[in-house]
Amino acid sequence: MPEKRILLDLTQEELGAYLKEISQPAFRAKQLYGWLNHGVAFSDMSNLPKELREQLDRECYDLPMSIQQSFPSQKDDTVKFLFRCHDDNLIEGVLMRYHYGYSLCISTQIGCKMGCAFCASTLNGCVRSLSAGEMLAEVILANRFLGEKGHVGHVVLMGSGEPLDNYDAVLRFLRLLNHKDGLNLSLRNVSLSTCGLTEQIRRLAGENLGITLSLSLHAPNDAIRTQIMPVARRYPLNEVMGAVREYVKLTGRRVVFEYALIDGLNSRPEHARELAKLAAGLQCHVNLIPLNRVEERALRPATPEAVQTFLKTLESLHVSATVRREMGSDIGGACGQLRRRHLQTEQ
Ligand code: SAH
Repeated sequence: MPEKRILLDLTQEELGAYLKEISQPAFRAKQLYGWLNHGVAFSDMSNLPKELREQLDRECYDLPMSIQQSFPSQKDDTVKFLFRCHDDNLIEGVLMRYHYGYSLCISTQIGCKMGCAFCASTLNGCVRSLSAGEMLAEVILANRFLGEKGHVGHVVLMGSGEPLDNYDAVLRFLRLLNHKDGLNLSLRNVSLSTCGLTEQIRRLAGENLGITLSLSLHAPNDAIRTQIMPVARRYPLNEVMGAVREYVKLTGRRVVFEYALIDGLNSRPEHARELAKLAAGLQCHVNLIPLNRVEERALRPATPEAVQTFLKTLESLHVSATVRREMGSDIGGACGQLRRRHLQTEQ
C-alpha cells in the first residue's frame, strides 16, 4: 500500500490541487485546512461529505502523530510531551506558561547529528528530520491539550534536532504556522536556535521572516568551543559571528546568545570578558543557562556563585544578560532526556 499523505505538510493551495485530483470542488480546501489546523479528525469534519471523509481517512493522515504521554511538572506549569510519530518514532516537546502566554518548545528532528558534548538529543544520532506538517502537529496537539485554558502563542525551535539542518521543512513549517486560515501565529513570536550553521544563517537572514535567531555559543573562543561542539571545527567563530552580524543588520532583530555555564570549562570571569568583546557593538542578549545535568555526560554545571559572578561581569561591561529560569527540571527539561529514557526502557 502506498504511504499515507501528511495533509498538514500542504499549503492551502496544494491542498486545493490534491482535492481537485480527487474531483472535489475548490471551496473544500479552506474548510479542510481549517479543520486540520484545529486538530479535528477526518471523522469529525462535519461539513465534509461522508464519502470524502472516508476516502481521506484511507489515503491521508489528519494528524501524523499523537501525544503518547504528558508529564506535568509538580513545581511549575510546565508540561513535557512525548509524541509518537506515525512511524512510531518518539519526539519531545515542552509547553511553558509565561506571563505573556503559552510557549511551546518543539523538536525539528528525531535525534540530532551535531554531537554537542553536553546534549542528550545527539547521543543516538539522527534518525530522520521531521516534516513541516509534523512540526505543525506538535503545536496543534499542544493546543488541543490546552483546550479552554488557552493556546500556544509563542514557538521556540529549541527541542531535539538542529533546525537549520532541516532548512526547507522548517521554512515551510514557519510559513504554515503563520497562515491566516491556519494557526495565524505571528513570526515575531518565534525563536529559532542553531548551533551555528553559517551558510544557513546567511540564507535565513535573507528570508525576511521576523523571527528571533538564537545562537548556541557556549564558549567565547574556538579553543573551548571545539572541545564541546564538533560544529565549531567546521565553522570557526569569526565566520559564525560574521553571519550573525549580517542577520542583525538585515533583519533589525537582536540576536540571542545561549551560553550554558559548565564547571571548569567556560564559566570563569575571563571567559565573560572575552564574551563581552565578542558581543561588543552587536544588538544582542546573552541567555545564561545553568547546565542541565545529563546522566551520560561527565560535564558538571557551574556553581551558583560562578553563575552570578559571570552575570555581574557581563553586566559591568554593558552586555545585556539574564540567567534562564529553570523550568520543569523535575521532568527531564533538557533536550532529549525524556525520549532517551523512554528508548532505554523500551529496549
Ligand atoms: N540544535 C539547536 C537547537 C536545539 S538545542 C541548537 O544547538 O541551538 C537547544 C538549546 O539547549 C541549545 O542552546 C543547546 O545548546 C542547549 N542544551 C542542550 N543540552 C543542554 C544541557 N544539558 N544543558 C543546558 N543546555 C543544553
